[in-house]
Amino acid sequence: MKIHSSLTTSEFSAALAAPSERAEGLFREQREAVYRATDHLFARLLVLEWAVLIVVALLVAPGSWPGQTGRIDLQIWLAVVFGGAITLLPVALAQLRPGAAITRYTIAACQMLHSGLLIGLSGGRLETHFHVFCSLVILSFYRDWRVLVPATLIVGLDHFLRGAYWPVSIYGVLSSGSFRSVEHCAWVAFEDVFLAIACFRSTHEMRATALRTAALEASQHANQLIMDKSRDVICANDAEGRFVSVSAACEALWGYKREELIGKSCVEMVHPDDRERSRLANLEIMGGHPVTNFENRYVRKDGKVVDVLWSAYWSESDGTLFQVARDITKRKRAEVALQKTNRQLASAHQANQLIMDNSQDVICSLDAQGRFLSTNAACQSLWGYSAEELIGRCYLVLVHPEDRVRSKQVEAGTRTGGKTDLINRCLRKDGSIIDVLWSVSWSAADEILFCVAHDVTERQRTEKALREAKEAADRANRAKSEFLSRMSHELRTPLNAILGFGQLLERQAPQPKQRLHLNHLLTAGHHLLELINEVLDISRIETGRMQLSLGPVSVKVALKEAIDLIQPLATEHSIHLFVAPKNETDHFVMADRQRLHQVLLNLLTNGVKYTPAGGAVMVNCRIDDAIVRLAVRDTGIGIAPGMLPRAFTPFDRLGAEQTGVEGTGLGLALSRRLVEAMHGRVGVESVQGEGSTFWLELARTEAPLEVIAANSLPDAPSREPENANKEECVFA
Ligand code: ADP
Repeated sequence: MKIHSSLTTSEFSAALAAPSERAEGLFREQREAVYRATDHLFARLLVLEWAVLIVVALLVAPGSWPGQTGRIDLQIWLAVVFGGAITLLPVALAQLRPGAAITRYTIAACQMLHSGLLIGLSGGRLETHFHVFCSLVILSFYRDWRVLVPATLIVGLDHFLRGAYWPVSIYGVLSSGSFRSVEHCAWVAFEDVFLAIACFRSTHEMRATALRTAALEASQHANQLIMDKSRDVICANDAEGRFVSVSAACEALWGYKREELIGKSCVEMVHPDDRERSRLANLEIMGGHPVTNFENRYVRKDGKVVDVLWSAYWSESDGTLFQVARDITKRKRAEVALQKTNRQLASAHQANQLIMDNSQDVICSLDAQGRFLSTNAACQSLWGYSAEELIGRCYLVLVHPEDRVRSKQVEAGTRTGGKTDLINRCLRKDGSIIDVLWSVSWSAADEILFCVAHDVTERQRTEKALREAKEAADRANRAKSEFLSRMSHELRTPLNAILGFGQLLERQAPQPKQRLHLNHLLTAGHHLLELINEVLDISRIETGRMQLSLGPVSVKVALKEAIDLIQPLATEHSIHLFVAPKNETDHFVMADRQRLHQVLLNLLTNGVKYTPAGGAVMVNCRIDDAIVRLAVRDTGIGIAPGMLPRAFTPFDRLGAEQTGVEGTGLGLALSRRLVEAMHGRVGVESVQGEGSTFWLELARTEAPLEVIAANSLPDAPSREPENANKEECVFA
């Protein structure tokens, strides 16, 4: 049984050590009670005796008095006045100071004076002397031998004085020798001796009883302390199972207050499923077979179920079942959780084993020196060695000699860096070489390297082939771009000559038929020149020779310039071209001004080109935190969903060649490359027959310093950063 920590050893010993002091207290209390009870006894006795004295004085005294004349008045006076004095004084003291020594001694003295008065009133009748002996016996009720002293002194004094001077009033004779008084006193002393012995014995017994009571109290107190401070439930039940006493822990266990538990049946609280088992256990205990470690469940007052471990025995003599119990709910829960964890561990272990057994990869552990501690069966297929052949050998024997130093370095790094991946070449048992990817992790606590080795020979081979193929493709692409670039340069010179001479001929007033031919010649030439320029741009980007100068570019200005240029074409095609919504605030993007202009022109031209007459092309600018999004939306022919992914593919006109609209199929491809070179993005959304939206996103940037400076001067004439044109950033 566990005692609650707040019950200290000193507290417990203090509870047991106090009895001597307590015994003294109890003894005093008991003696005081005896004194008081005896005082009250005498108070009533003295009043009774006073009444008897008056009756005796009235009836008996005259007849017993010898001589011719009786002094009746005196006797009555004596009975009333003297008797009253020796009655009222002690009675008053018994009422006012019960238990006090003075009261006792006064009562003793007055009681003996009553005896003397009675003897005197009876004319010294021998029988009345028994009153003395009886009084002494009754005085011994005080259990205090000291009260016998004043009583005896009064008796002795009375006998000697009256024996000498008034023998008739005490012995009923006219004269007596002093020996008679001695004899009387001797009898009194004789009785005193035994009464004193009785007092001593009685006091001794009283003290012993007090000591026993104190010891009992101390032990009860200690028991109560144990009961109250114990974490365990301690209780006693009667034969019907009702609680007779309960420790403080019972309240915590069952949730009922002590007063609620006392008289309540313990069985009522047992969980219904455990009731029968508990009843049988009770019968066994009451049959004289104490039970230890009996477990059952109880339903608390709040409805919660608690698990309890019991020890109980039946006391036949007390008709009481003493029980000690402990709340083991937490332990039970912990046990259940532990069982669950164990099961999970076992399953995990089983799963691990299954993985180990069926893994294509080698799963192994190495000691601090790199020697195999364990490995799964996959080592046979990876290296051609069985597990038995590898255990105890260093893994480096498997590594290609040229890779050993590097492998060792990586392995050492693992011990400080945790987990590492390493690819090295390994020598199989049959001498062949394989590439192995090692995933290694170091357990500092166990000083073990855990490794998973995976054959990546094939993957390495494929990667190498892919790398080589890509390099070849890059080379071919570069060669193609180089070729295109050179070709374009070479083509541009004669083409410029063709166009130049064509324009010369146009100015020399040709015949209408010749003019038609010249028009064909110039249109085809311009188309070819556009194509060559775009091819040149694309190849420049691809070969990394395109020089972009990125800087803050005003969106307002860029849009205005592009729209101004396209407006005549739009008017020619009867297309409504505008910016919406109109925005007064200017924003800046990080771009190459000339190339952004080129992209916008391309998108706007497409919008106009692929929109039937009467349609509209709208430019929209949206700011999204650090991004500026420009969108060119038209109400044109749109693009079929299946063709959208090919929208930015060079030379792919998405079937536009059949529509008669002129084009090279390079504009969008070039736009994408330019925007991406400016770290932006382009995209398209389109619904066939309804229209398309081509958008581009560029990084937003701060306005250049001179713009900020110009704006901060209220009187200074406003100035566009890109050109000196003072136009509002409103396009219509
Ligand atoms: P092209 O010189 O043919 O216009 P682009 O690269 O600019 O070449 O465009 C590729 C193809 O995308 C075009 O041929 C056309 O089919 C389609 N396209 C481009 N812009 C639009 C548009 N606004 N509406 C419908 N189709 C478009």
